[in-house]
Amino acid sequence: MIQSDNCIFCKIVSGAIPAIKVYEDEQTLAFMDINPASDGHSLIISKDHYENLLEIEEGALTAVMLTTQRLARAIKKALKPDGMRVSQFNGAAAGQTVFHYHAHIVPYHQGDKLGSHGRGPGDPEVIKQIAAQIRDALGS
Ligand code: 5GP
Ligand code: ZN
Repeated sequence: MIQSDNCIFCKIVSGAIPAIKVYEDEQTLAFMDINPASDGHSLIISKDHYENLLEIEEGALTAVMLTTQRLARAIKKALKPDGMRVSQFNGAAAGQTVFHYHAHIVPYHQGDKLGSHGRGPGDPEVIKQIAAQIRDALGS
């Protein structure tokens, strides 16, 4: 496992800090964003630490993309959004704040005008309940 000291997402991978997880396999992990831009805002990361799209190795990138598709399908089934935005930022100037490769899925309902990031922490109980719905959809 490629890890980086003081990386918050590496700490989530190792279990050193908690996250509301929805999916995990050998190479990837998906969990709920702590500051959701909308209900269901999730992050998909490679377990190995790569800073961004320029750094990530091909196999890890493919695995993240496949998990993103799997999760998007489950979110569609569970939460029935009208649409979903998948985004990924490279470099602080482009809005990246955590320097461990990840993709966002942000569900949209018609008329939503959402920023790419949430404005503050979501209610953990609400996020846990949404995560349970997504996990159910992943399992079915
Ligand atoms: P980006 O680097 O693409 O700008 O976004 C990083 C995302 O990670 C943000 O949407 C932020 O809310 C989320 N985030 C930052 N720290 C944590 C954390 O400790 N736990 C979780 N679940 N999400 C986090
Ligand atoms: Zn990391």
